[in-house]
Amino acid sequence: MAEQAIADVLAHYGADCVPEGYKWAPMKCPFHDDRSASASVSTERGSFKCHACEAHGDTYSLVMWKEGCDFAGAVEILTGILGTEHPAVSKGNARKPRRRVFDAEGANAGQHSIFSAGLRRRFDAGA
Ligand SMILES: [Zn+2]
Repeated sequence: MAEQAIADVLAHYGADCVPEGYKWAPMKCPFHDDRSASASVSTERGSFKCHACEAHGDTYSLVMWKEGCDFAGAVEILTGILGTEHPAVSKGNARKPRRRVFDAEGANAGQHSIFSAGLRRRFDAGA
């Protein structure tokens, strides 16, 4: 399941297309303005490496790298991207009490409202 997680995370950050079932397939890096395929992704191993901007790691470290958060923060963001039932998220959540992440709706939704609306569409389409 890790392979799906990393594909979803890369797509979330703007990757055009994540090849599935490959060991180290070249792809355009979604973390910088990449014109050629500077990055490699292994959906089989759930790992990513960009040779230009040095973004690298597994699903959690990519989120931490991109968002500048710690592991707990990455778990929360992944929960928002993948949903609470995703195995990659459940595994991370086992390390701390589960709580809702994107419950900002209504009055003080702020910038999260657009984000969570997008996520809902995604969940509706995918689940
Ligand atoms: Zn990059």
